[in-house]
Amino acid sequence: MADYKDLANLIFPDINLTIEDLEKKYPERVLPDNAEVTRFAPSPTGFLHTGSLFTSLVSSFYAKQTKGVFFIRLEDTDTKREIEGSAEALVKQLKIFNIIPDEGYISDNEEKGLYGPYKQSNRALIYKTVIKYLLENGRAYPCFATPEELQELREKQEKEKVIPGYYGKYAKYRNLSVDDAIKMIKDGKPYIIRFKSMGDHNNKIFFHDEIRGDLELTENDQDIVILKSDGLPTYHFAHLCDDHFMRTTVITRGEEWLPSLPIHLELFDTLGFRRPKYAHLPVIMKLDNGNKRKLSKRKDNEASVEFFLKEGYPIYGFIEYLLTIANSNYEAWRNENLDKSFYDFTFSFDKMSLDGALFDIEKVISISKERMAYKKANDLAIEVKEWAKTYDLEFYQKIENNFELLVQILNIEREKENPRKDYAKYSDVYPIIKFFYNDIYDSIDKSNLDFTVNINKNETKELDKEVIISSLSEYLDNYNLDVTEEEWFENLKLLAAKHKFTSDRKAFKASPESFNGQVGDMAGLIRLSLAGRKNTPNVYFIQKILGFDEVERRINSVIQYLGLKK
Ligand code: GLU
Repeated sequence: MADYKDLANLIFPDINLTIEDLEKKYPERVLPDNAEVTRFAPSPTGFLHTGSLFTSLVSSFYAKQTKGVFFIRLEDTDTKREIEGSAEALVKQLKIFNIIPDEGYISDNEEKGLYGPYKQSNRALIYKTVIKYLLENGRAYPCFATPEELQELREKQEKEKVIPGYYGKYAKYRNLSVDDAIKMIKDGKPYIIRFKSMGDHNNKIFFHDEIRGDLELTENDQDIVILKSDGLPTYHFAHLCDDHFMRTTVITRGEEWLPSLPIHLELFDTLGFRRPKYAHLPVIMKLDNGNKRKLSKRKDNEASVEFFLKEGYPIYGFIEYLLTIANSNYEAWRNENLDKSFYDFTFSFDKMSLDGALFDIEKVISISKERMAYKKANDLAIEVKEWAKTYDLEFYQKIENNFELLVQILNIEREKENPRKDYAKYSDVYPIIKFFYNDIYDSIDKSNLDFTVNINKNETKELDKEVIISSLSEYLDNYNLDVTEEEWFENLKLLAAKHKFTSDRKAFKASPESFNGQVGDMAGLIRLSLAGRKNTPNVYFIQKILGFDEVERRINSVIQYLGLKK
C-alpha cells in the first residue's frame, strides 16, 4: 500500500529541498529591537491605484519609522490579468513618491536583497517544497473535481442551504485513498492541489489586528486550492510561503483580505510558522450623490495615481494628504511642526480610521495650495519645469528659453507672511501666467476683451470707448515704473479721479450713471490691457516683470485697437 510520501514523490519527483533548507536559506533577520519588516505586494494588472499608493506609503513609512525593512514583492501569479510593463511602471511611480524599497523587485531583470526571488513566478521551487511537505504529512491532497462536479456541488449546497464551498463531507476527494489518487494521476486525470483543513466553522477564533483591534472570527474549514492547474500557487498559499520566508513582521494590506484571514492563520499554524502581525487598511471611498462607495478604477479619475501626476499635484502635498487619511492626528501635528519634514511624524496603526477613508479632492487642493505657496520661487520653478517636460511641452519650451522669467513670475507676492495661493498643481501655472509671453499675448483676440465693470453682484456696465482710450493714453503719458507699489497706486488714484473713476464705492453703487467706474476698475483696465484677462496676479508686479517698453507696447496696442474699432 502506497503512503503519503509516495504520493508526494509522484507529484513532485524533482523536489529535494526541505522546509529546514528553506529556513536556513532565509534566516530570521537581524534587526534592531521593535524594527518591523513590511512589504507592498502589487499584482501587475494595470496602473497604480490611489489605494495602493496609500497602502505602500503606510508600509514604507512604518518600516522606516521603526528602522526596519520595506520590500516590494511582485504577485504575478494571475497570468490572465497581467498587463505587460505595468510592474515596472508601478515601481517607477512609487519612486516618484519617494517610496523606495530597501529590497525586492526593481524591474523584470533586477532585484535586490537576500530573501528573493521577489517575483512570485520565480518562486516555484519554494512553493513546491512546502506543498510537498504538506502532501507528505497528509495536509494537502490532489483534487480531481471537474467543473461539472463543482457545479453539482454548488447546486446541492444551495438546495441544502448550507455554507458553500469545498469542505468536510462535501470535499469529495479529501479522503480519497493514496492508492486511488496515485492511480488517477497515472491515468492522466487533471488535478489541482488543495489544503486539508482541520477547522470547523462552528468554532470562533480570536485575533488582534493592528488597526481593527480584537476580532472574533469564524474558523476556516475550507479546503482551499493551494496549487492551480497552471502550476502556480493561489494568493493564500503564496502569502504564507512568501511572508514567512521573507520574514515579514507586519502584513499591511487592504481590508478586502480580512475575510480570508482565518485561512491564513490556519496555514501559518499548520506549518508551525510564527503568525505575522496584520494591519488591514481601510479602503479609500468616495462620496457619490451622498453615498459612500469604493474609489473605482473604471469611474473615477482620482483612482489612478497617474491622474495626479499628469495634473501636476505636487508630490509632497499629495503625500501629506494621504497622511491625513492615514492618521487622524496628522493635521494637528503638522500645524504645530510646520518647519519639520512629514517623515518626522510618528505614524501609528491605532490612529487609523476604521470605516473607510473618504477621498476628498478639495482637501488635496487646499493642502497643495498651502504647500506650494510656501515654496521658494526658484524651487517651485524647477518643479514646474520638470513636470512640464513630460506633460506640457509648449510650456516647457518657454521655461527652457527663459527660466528666470518663470522665477520672477512665481515670486510675485510670494515671500510674505500671507503669500498668494494661486496654484494647487503645476498645470494651474501656465493658464494663469501665459499672457506674460509676448507671442501668447499677441495671439489674444482683442474683440474678446471684456471692458465691463461691476456695479454690484448682478449688474455690470460697459465702459465707454473714449473713456478707455483717454485714460489709458494719459496713464502712458505719466507712466513711471521706478516707484513703489504705494506710490504707483497713489498716482493711479489721481488719474482715476480725473477720469471719473470714484474711490467712493457707495456713491458709485447709488448712482452708477454719475461715474465711469471705481478706482479698482482703473487698475482693472490696465490689467486687462496687459494680460487680456481680468484675473491675474498683482498688476504692479506684472508691469515690473514685463518692463517699461512691453507695458507701453501692450497698452498702445489696445488703444490702437479701440481707436480703429467702429
Ligand atoms: N497582490 C495582492 C493585491 O494586489 C496583495 C495583497 C497583500 O498585500 O497581501 O491585492
